[in-house]
Amino acid sequence: MSALKEYQAKRKFNKTTEPKGEISESESRRFVVHEHHARSLHYDLRLETEGVLKSWAVPKGVPEEPGVKRLAVQVEDHPVGYIDFSGIIPEGEYGAGEVKIWDKGEWDYIEGDLEKGSIKFNLRGEKLKGEYALVRFKDSSRFAGEASKKNWLIFKIKEH
Ligand code: MN
Repeated sequence: MSALKEYQAKRKFNKTTEPKGEISESESRRFVVHEHHARSLHYDLRLETEGVLKSWAVPKGVPEEPGVKRLAVQVEDHPVGYIDFSGIIPEGEYGAGEVKIWDKGEWDYIEGDLEKGSIKFNLRGEKLKGEYALVRFKDSSRFAGEASKKNWLIFKIKEH
């Protein structure tokens, strides 16, 4: 099953200008943060890994200073081509609203494992620079079941 099946199923590519995309063979580690003026404004952090962009919707944005923890809700993997996407998703379509690139750059792995719900990494963007962590919620699983697997915290550990 394609890792992009959920992404593609949610969108009508004759209506939206978002890329349909495919699994990439690139080994690069780029990242983008989209500013997404959907029903409510949020920021989408996307990390290039394993041929896709692993993606989180961060309602209040990725923190620029250490000591601030923000909710990051994991969403469907996006195609690597989405890293350059900006534009307006039409009214009535999934994610309708304007999408702008808020920051982009490269990231480096430090330690941990996304599959296991904990990773440390460096961001090297224009705005976001430094050591970060993404940690999946543990405690809520027995209350919220599958849904809780989507809830992570993102925080900045330190400047470089
Ligand atoms: Mn979004």
